[in-house]
Amino acid sequence: SGYSGYSGNSGNSGNSGSAQDGFQQLYGYPPEGVWAAPGRVNLIGEHTDYNDGFALPFALPQRTEVAAARRTDRILRVHSADAPSGAVTLDLADLDPAHPPQGAASWAAYPAGVAWALLDAGLPVGGADLHVRSDVPTGAGLSSSAALEVATALALTDLYGIGLTRPELAALARRAENAYVGVPCGIMDQTASACATQGHALHLDTRSLARRHIPFDCAAAGLRLLVIDTRVKHALADGAYAQRRASCHGAAEALGLPALRDLPYEELEQALPRLVDPIARKRVRHVVTENERVLRVEELLRAGRLREAGPLLTEGHLSLRDDYEVSCPELDLAVSTANAAGAYGSRMTGGGFGGSALSLIDADAEEAVIRAVANAFLRADFTPPRVTTAAPSEGAVRLL
Ligand code: ADP
Ligand code: MG
Repeated sequence: SGYSGYSGNSGNSGNSGSAQDGFQQLYGYPPEGVWAAPGRVNLIGEHTDYNDGFALPFALPQRTEVAAARRTDRILRVHSADAPSGAVTLDLADLDPAHPPQGAASWAAYPAGVAWALLDAGLPVGGADLHVRSDVPTGAGLSSSAALEVATALALTDLYGIGLTRPELAALARRAENAYVGVPCGIMDQTASACATQGHALHLDTRSLARRHIPFDCAAAGLRLLVIDTRVKHALADGAYAQRRASCHGAAEALGLPALRDLPYEELEQALPRLVDPIARKRVRHVVTENERVLRVEELLRAGRLREAGPLLTEGHLSLRDDYEVSCPELDLAVSTANAAGAYGSRMTGGGFGGSALSLIDADAEEAVIRAVANAFLRADFTPPRVTTAAPSEGAVRLL
């Protein structure tokens, strides 16, 4: 199906060859090691992580590899096969969140931010040469940013014998993105990339940071998960994200709660009339029902009733579309078309306004669903989506 853009691996182009070979070619000596961290997809639990709520992501087979070696000076050289900037040279002494790398080198803010966060935590990181390659598509809502941060954090801490736990690694990677890159993300992406395990979804309580590994074997159940990358990112995304956060925090305050997490699902209907702003009511309804959906999906996975999770995914999508208002025509079309073509359920995943949708289907239905979505996008004159299948994969690892 040439027009659907379908491929088994929707990663970046121009990065063939191993990270190890790339490092050797670039720097003229071999790396000391290679580390990898995956992208993630969130099965359910969207826009809950800044409300102290629940999420249920899993790690993708696509991952970002970092080949690295220590240097004897305080220089950090970073290079990515997926970025056009060439190698970017930074002095550890000059890393400053007020002045991250700009222009073509702006991607280097992610690895530089990790080094900065390590130094800022008083940890003994030194200079290093890094070469990055990835097959996680960037900007597709699959968290290539967390994959890059976590792989870098694992590389630098291993190289310098800094023993951090996986959750500590995730927190450090998040700090790099929040404080150095300047993106106000929650803890879900980095936790999924650092802590997920193969064949499991990761239930994350974003308040306590408690984690539960929930068996999630689609293949054994004759199911597939499709990741439909719409390949669009609408400009509203950043502003809308900040507005939603503010709206949620304002509503929690108005209800006298530390966070919307503290409004039980059973008390939602009584609480809503206490909010004067009808928009705030919709936002709260999404967050509270979404937390409930996470718990119900988790129960279904534990019971091996995977198909029954489908309708909850679709319910989650409608809540994001109608109450949270963070979907877009491309995501809505992907979801409605996949469902009409026989999916058990589908939803947008990630922050919204573009990025990817997720669809739970019978393994047998794969061709038909992909064709239906591709045709629908063609008819709507949308950019052809990229469709891949996702199986819950391993979190960050050292490869070499
Ligand atoms: P997402 O995390 O959903 O993919 P983000 O906008 O959060 O989208 O992060 C994408 C950015 O992360 C890219 O624009 C780039 O700056 C950086 N990035 C991610 N992966 C790589 C990579 N392999 N090489 C260089 N930069 C990368
Ligand atoms: Mg990101």
